[in-house]
Order: sequence, then C-alpha cells, then structure tokens
Amino acid sequence: MENFRKLGIIEPVLKAIKDEHFEKPSEIQEKSIPMILEGKDVIAGSATGSGKTLAFGAAIIQHCEKGRGLQALVLTPTRELAEQISQALKKFSKYKPLEIAAVYGGVSINPQMQKLRIADVVIATPGRMLDHMQRGTVNLSKVKILVLDEADRMADMGFIDDVEHIIRACPKERQTMLFSATITDELKRISSRYMRDPVKVSAEVYVDAKKLTQVYYDVPDNMKFSLLVHLLNQERAGLVMVFCNTQRNTDFVADNLRFNGIPAMAIHGGMSQDRRNQAIESFHSCKVGVLVCTDVAARGLDIKGVSHIYNYDAPKESKQYIHRIGRTARAGKEGIAVNLVASRDYENFSRVLRDNDVQVEKMQAPYIEKVRLKLPAEDRKRFGRRGGNFAKPRRRY
Ligand code: AMP
Repeated sequence: MENFRKLGIIEPVLKAIKDEHFEKPSEIQEKSIPMILEGKDVIAGSATGSGKTLAFGAAIIQHCEKGRGLQALVLTPTRELAEQISQALKKFSKYKPLEIAAVYGGVSINPQMQKLRIADVVIATPGRMLDHMQRGTVNLSKVKILVLDEADRMADMGFIDDVEHIIRACPKERQTMLFSATITDELKRISSRYMRDPVKVSAEVYVDAKKLTQVYYDVPDNMKFSLLVHLLNQERAGLVMVFCNTQRNTDFVADNLRFNGIPAMAIHGGMSQDRRNQAIESFHSCKVGVLVCTDVAARGLDIKGVSHIYNYDAPKESKQYIHRIGRTARAGKEGIAVNLVASRDYENFSRVLRDNDVQVEKMQAPYIEKVRLKLPAEDRKRFGRRGGNFAKPRRRY
C-alpha cells in the first residue's frame, strides 16, 4: 500500500484499493496520479486495461464532496464503458461515498433525470449528455473535473462535435484529463483548445506479448462455423470472446453455438441495453463461457480472465486486430488468439499481418465433421421451419 500512498492518494481510497487487492500501481497510475492529484491537466496515452480508471478516479474522489452538485463529469464512448466506470468508481469511493450516476442512451431518460439532480459525479455518453443539456435536466456550472475517456474512440464514432459542445458548457476554471490509446491530430486540436498546459504521460499496453499465442487456421468457407465448434469443444477454455464484423453474423454465431450445446451470448449495438447488460453480466459471472461480439460492443469492456480470442471474421482494419487481441493475455495471464481464415477473410487478414508486427503461426486444420445449423429467422420463413442441416445455405457465414 506504501507505493500507492506515495502517489498522494488519500486514506479512504487507499483502503478501497486494499480491498481490491491491488499490490502495486500500474505504470499509468504511477506516472499520472501525482500530477492528476496536483490538479494538472493531463493527456494520457493508455489503452483499456492500463488502470486508468483509478488514475482519474483518485482525483475525482479526493476533490469532490457529497451534496455539492455535479462536480466531475466523465465522457466515454459506449454505454458499457459508462456502466463499468461507474461501478469501478463506486468501489473506489466506498469509504468516501459520493452520488455516482451513469447516463447513457438506449434506456429511459426519466430515471436519469432524478439521478442527475443529486449526482456528484456523472459518467456519460456524449449523445445522452447533450440530450439532458438541451432539456435543461443537468447543471454543469459546478463541474471542476472533466475526463474525456477513450477520446480516440469517441472521435472514431463521430462524437467529437458533441464532446466539444459539452466541454464548452463546462466552467473554464476546471481540470481536464484526456485518456486515449492514440493521440490523433483531431485530439491535439481539442487539447490545445480546451486544456491548460497539459502534461503528457504514456504507458505500455498491458497485453504481455510473451504470454500471447497467435495462430490461424485456413478453412473452407462452409466449414468455418464447424471448426469454431470443434475448437471450442476441444479446448474447454476459460472465458472466450468471438469477434464478428456484423451484427448479423454475431447473432448467427451465438444462436448456432447454443444450438450446438455451447453456452454463448451475443452482444452488439442492435440489442437493447438491457439485453447487452444481461449478456455482460452472465459472462462476468461465468454463467456463459462464450461472448460473441462486434468490435464496437466489446470496446473498452473490462472482463478479466479471457483466455481465448477468436476472430470469426478477420477485422477490416488492422488496428482492430490489436484491440481484439488486447482482450486476453492481460495482467500477466496466458492468452491465445485464434484466427479462422476463410477465402473471404484473406484480404483483411493479410492486411493485418502486413500492418502489424505480429507473429501468427499457421495451424493444421483438424479433421472435423460438419455441424448442424439453425436457419436464420428470415431463411426459415422461406424454407419452412425445418431448422437442422441445410445443404446449400444461401449465405455464407
Ligand atoms: P482500467 O484500465 O481502469 O479499466 O483497469 C483495468 C483493470 O485493472 C480493472 O479490472 C482494474 O480493477 C484493474 N486494476 C487497476 N489498477 C490495478 C492495479 N494497480 N493492480 C492490479 N489491477 C489493477
């Protein structure tokens, strides 16, 4: 605990850190917390899993007091991340309780209005925050700490105008922190416009390359799903994430894994927030072992103990590959990334290999039986309700 105390963290937070069994500060915590606690503006280059929540959380908990209005605002790209950060801040602040509210779209707005009235700290997605501002249901005049979390992602998702609008509505006299895996020109512009002499810190990605094995299988298009089932059955892995490029494929894979007796759940942007929360909750508590997801849905989720990543579809952009494999081999654990490469993945997969300095070993595809598939709902309408094996599917998955 001494090395956390040395960073200037106050006793109630130290006590909560102890309860979390953190042994020593992560690199980003070590480098940024002293400056953050001094009230400096900070630009931190750090990825998911670096421990950044505690870095900005320490300052929020230290400098905010219960019942004095909304004093700290954290903007974050996704609803899941907003939920995750709010849970983490609730844990870190348990010995100095604060009213912490997560505010995001896709759920009813009225309960959020109630929470906003009494919140000391708000973690919000930009769209919903703007909505509250336009309705006059949030008061930003007391904000003294503003955090832009996963700022590159917010820019990628087209939220930058909303973010700027929100920044301008906060008091000028404040501390601003920007966390981002990459600092693009757009973010440099934001920081020069809205931050005061920001100090830059960066930390390595938490993924341990030595502990990560990356392999690929060359597989015919029509055997790809069967190979996935075979590998999942063979390996009896811990928690597994399967990445797909589309919502449709995500649903297809999750449905058919369940159809083949493998507990799996899908998570993508087309699902209601309740169902997404439910899927994540089941995965967290290990009720289901396989989470099938799109990149956006998985971004920033902090799920411990993911042993295997499967790229069911090769990512379209090579930086997505790094984000995906970053979900495993974290915090010193072993991890495996498995790429199922069919002819339609060749182009994307070769781009990944070309653009990234990664070692991916080719595996010999095992002999496998073709598994049964459930017909997707719209095909079922066409072909009748027979389900089961169909010789020539209209679409290739
Ligand atoms: P974050 O990057 O803030 O999402 O944190 C990633 C994960 O690392 C979370 O599960 C944290 O609880 C955990 N974590 C944060 N700081 C530490 C630390 N100093 N030691 C061990 N785990 C940590």
